[in-house]
Amino acid sequence: MADIDRDRTPPSHPLALWKSYFRVQPADRDPRSLLDPEHQETEPWGESDEGLCVKCGGSGATMFECGMCKADGPNYACPVCGGRIRYEDECPACKGSGHIAHERRKGVSAFPDEAALYRYLLDHNARLDETTRVIELEGELSEEQDFDADEGALLIRPRRIADVHSLDWQLLSSLSRGVVR
Ligand SMILES: [Zn+2]
Ligand SMILES: [Zn+2]
Repeated sequence: MADIDRDRTPPSHPLALWKSYFRVQPADRDPRSLLDPEHQETEPWGESDEGLCVKCGGSGATMFECGMCKADGPNYACPVCGGRIRYEDECPACKGSGHIAHERRKGVSAFPDEAALYRYLLDHNARLDETTRVIELEGELSEEQDFDADEGALLIRPRRIADVHSLDWQLLSSLSRGVVR
């Protein structure tokens, strides 16, 4: 897929109009806790050791790729990339410093569509089973960037739970075989 010239991105794409966002969590965790502003915080996944940033190797910059627009074509309303699909930018894990400091960020991690969420989970070999729930949320983007923004993750402040359902195993397996990619 060819890179999209970032100059073609309109200056103000309608971020606020994106309908809903998706994340997963275990069935035994009450999704309503996501609506409590006190719980709308995110820490890095895995080890959050301080030190050299693993994502960018200390350079402070990394390649961003939006899985949704890569699969479906560039969408100028996309809250992840604004239709840019693939571009280099400041590393979201270390905010360009090259070094990781232990920190929490405002918002909960989510993806702009269910397939984008599944691609991320597959890439990270996440443990998924019958107790995994997909939570569809409505809300606004946080002012902070997700640690994995380069992989299409967003931080949002959920206002409403639109839906809770089991994993779509058919979609997951088609994505894992690369059919829909
Ligand atoms: Zn970094
Ligand atoms: Zn996109």
